[in-house]
Amino acid sequence: MTHLEDLDDLLSEAENYLNDEKCLKSKSSAIKNKSLQRRETNNNAKSNELSDFVDEIDSVLENSDFICDKVGSISISKDATEPAEKSRSDVKRACSRVNLGPPGSSLGLASLTQQRCCDSLLCFKCDQRIIWFEKMKWLEDTEYLYLRTHYPNRTKLSLKLKSDKNTRAYCCQCTCVNIMEFKDVREVQQLSWICTKH
Ligand SMILES: [Zn+2]
Ligand SMILES: [Zn+2]
Repeated sequence: MTHLEDLDDLLSEAENYLNDEKCLKSKSSAIKNKSLQRRETNNNAKSNELSDFVDEIDSVLENSDFICDKVGSISISKDATEPAEKSRSDVKRACSRVNLGPPGSSLGLASLTQQRCCDSLLCFKCDQRIIWFEKMKWLEDTEYLYLRTHYPNRTKLSLKLKSDKNTRAYCCQCTCVNIMEFKDVREVQQLSWICTKH
């Protein structure tokens, strides 16, 4: 009988324990619901009795939000890069080295493997595009005022040019230059010319 009583005691203890656990579980889910509800309604009021526990749940929820945000932002940025990758060939590119060159030198985008003379030049002093004349040379007395007045009229500008098979005559509305060899635009001191991409 003693053993049975002991067993009974043990069983009722276990039952109490289980009941306590159930109670704790339902209490915890009630707190969770309360916390979620609180977040949804944006109500910052806290129950003093449960505030510590709620804070803890909040921090877990916030962390999981943070993870979701992270994942979201990663997928968003991936989406954002995809169109760029798809249309890579449509993206305009600047010359890797902005070159000027003599008559006959090829024009276009200069890459690391293809050295060409840039044909998309802009002067950032006068804000005008650069034009050129094949096998022509500017007369030494060609002045700023002449360029200023007659750019981009090629006929008028030609009055200040003479034939020279080894020279390409470049100009914008403020500066002119004779180019007899392939060179980087930065090697010509007076120029403020940049590649506007191709
Ligand atoms: Zn260019
Ligand atoms: Zn200019």
